[in-house]
Amino acid sequence: MTLSEPHSVPHSVAGKAPESLSVIIPLLNEADGLDALSARLAEVLDTTGCDWDVLFVDDGSTDGTLRGLKVLSTKDPRFSAISLSRNFGKERAIAAGLHYVQGDAAIIMDGDLQHPPKIILDFLARWREGFDIVYGQRMARDTEGPIRRGMAHGFYAFFRVLSQTPIPKDSGDFRLLNRKAIDAMNQLGERERFNKGLFSWIGFRTTAVPYQVAERSKGRAKWRTDKLMKLASDGITSFSNVPLRVSSVLGFLISISALTYALYFLVWTLAFGADLPGFPSLIISIMLLSGVQLLSLGVIGEYLGRVYEEVKGRPLYLVAEEVGRIKPPRLIGQRFAGRQDAGHDLPRDPG
Ligand code: UDP
Ligand code: MG
Repeated sequence: MTLSEPHSVPHSVAGKAPESLSVIIPLLNEADGLDALSARLAEVLDTTGCDWDVLFVDDGSTDGTLRGLKVLSTKDPRFSAISLSRNFGKERAIAAGLHYVQGDAAIIMDGDLQHPPKIILDFLARWREGFDIVYGQRMARDTEGPIRRGMAHGFYAFFRVLSQTPIPKDSGDFRLLNRKAIDAMNQLGERERFNKGLFSWIGFRTTAVPYQVAERSKGRAKWRTDKLMKLASDGITSFSNVPLRVSSVLGFLISISALTYALYFLVWTLAFGADLPGFPSLIISIMLLSGVQLLSLGVIGEYLGRVYEEVKGRPLYLVAEEVGRIKPPRLIGQRFAGRQDAGHDLPRDPG
């Protein structure tokens, strides 16, 4: 990590209009923490020299979150919100935020102050150096239990083996994306979203800023283990076809050995006649084969389910209400859809 001079306005932007910076925060029942969050954010953002705004995405909260957001946006119009029609999950809430966000760059962070707002200054410094994506790298998963930590570890190891899209270790959603990266994200149409993978998939010049995860400010974590398992499985299936191949390879090997076994039995019976041995092995092979079949069907089902989700073509989320100054979503950015922004010399794919 380089030591950045905090919030000095770099020469490249001196004299120009200030950059605009948007912060996207997905919220599910975070009413209690809202005041502390907005106060600490405003404090940090005011020192950036940017034209900033905060876009909350209320992900179907059932407590006073939406009410709190309305109060907040009347007090300070730099805070605005979209409220989704129900709980769509954090991944989609972030997708919604990325669609609506207007800034030259967007920062994605959690609404429970586990992502320290002052890290935003480091993100900005790296962005101004010319990076397209700056992500926060957790220094320790101290705030999580050993089981959760072990599971996360296992998942990333598994993901690395299976997928060609590597996810940087200990990275999360806490990150800065410039307009190019935002527009790239907005072109990805898939419904089963695994943002962490998508952030890597889009590429661009990326760097990390290490940070210490803070304790949750208020309330409790919304991720339940079943939701995390769903996310993990979305992650694997949307970024790897290896499980599909594993089952066919396994099926092939087992069929070959079954055939060999049958041949061996045939010869044996012809030579020595049949009595009734082999009964246990018969049962075992039936069980084994049906097990493998079920396993393969399950894997295929996972992918098929995902294909079905995509084919249905439903919108990712529905917006029930807009709070404060909301402009229509910038779905496909001109800059990205056309040629690459001349200001950056991107490392190009040689192929
Ligand atoms: N969140 C959300 N929708 C959900 C679950 C969570 O918008 O379905 C938000 C939540 O309000 C918080 C962020 O996502 O701002 C991270 O959630 P949480 O702190 O519960 O998860 P963890 O810290 O364990 O990753
Ligand atoms: Mg949290």
